Amino acid sequence: MARLEIRSLRKRFDEVDVIKGVDLEVEDREFCVFLGPSGCGKSTLLRLIAGLEDVDEGHLLLDGGDITDLPAVNRNLAMVFQSYALYPHMTVRENMSFALKLAKAEPDVIAKKVERAARILALEPLLDRKPAALSGGQRQRVAIGRAIVREPRIFLFDEPLSNLDAALRVQMRLEIARLHQELKATTIYVTHDQVEAMTLADKVVIFNAGRIEQVGSPLELYRRPANRFVASFLGMPQ
Ligand code: ADP
Ligand code: MG
Repeated sequence: MARLEIRSLRKRFDEVDVIKGVDLEVEDREFCVFLGPSGCGKSTLLRLIAGLEDVDEGHLLLDGGDITDLPAVNRNLAMVFQSYALYPHMTVRENMSFALKLAKAEPDVIAKKVERAARILALEPLLDRKPAALSGGQRQRVAIGRAIVREPRIFLFDEPLSNLDAALRVQMRLEIARLHQELKATTIYVTHDQVEAMTLADKVVIFNAGRIEQVGSPLELYRRPANRFVASFLGMPQ
């Protein structure tokens, strides 16, 4: 189980309110997409959830337990960024094993988890390569693989496809959808791309300037946009 509740969350940087009171529930196994224009606070909210930034006000609850002050390493959430941040001197296998080795997992357990993630992501033929010998899409798959082996309670994706070209982005989007079908893990996925949001999401959260404008399924948002901002952001005629 991994159900996240965000209660009256606020975050300020240098006297500027960036997250202005956010309330949201992300259900167990749900694929929840945060969609909004650049600079509206999506990454900040994700970093607050991950524990990479301190909360100013409000609470984060995971399965009812308060994690607001829990250090990032103890939250067991995994974040995938747009920059892959792979270790260049390590092979794919070593990159995917690294976090488990640090956590002192048994070698045979590590091998099993890495093989499973490699199978899911079709990385088996590439396990002994170094990142320099991989394409952009393959590198992003390794970054996702590193998250999978940790078996996190929630997957957090911050615009993971925005560095890829258009064709690869479509392919990776399908792979992420398939991944969710297979793992059925609670996922929060940040993007400013409405097509990406609408094709992947069970639930879309539309953000603007540090606030939620609307929450709903893709169909609900298209049928009943709550206001002009939502309608225009979804590319609907005014
Ligand atoms: P998004 O991911 O939606 O593009 P961000 O969460 O990155 O938006 O940023 C929201 C706002 O907060 C921006 O105005 C950004 O400049 C500001 N911001 C983000 N991180 C910091 C920081 N560490 N210090 C100061 N301002 C920040
Ligand atoms: Mg961002």
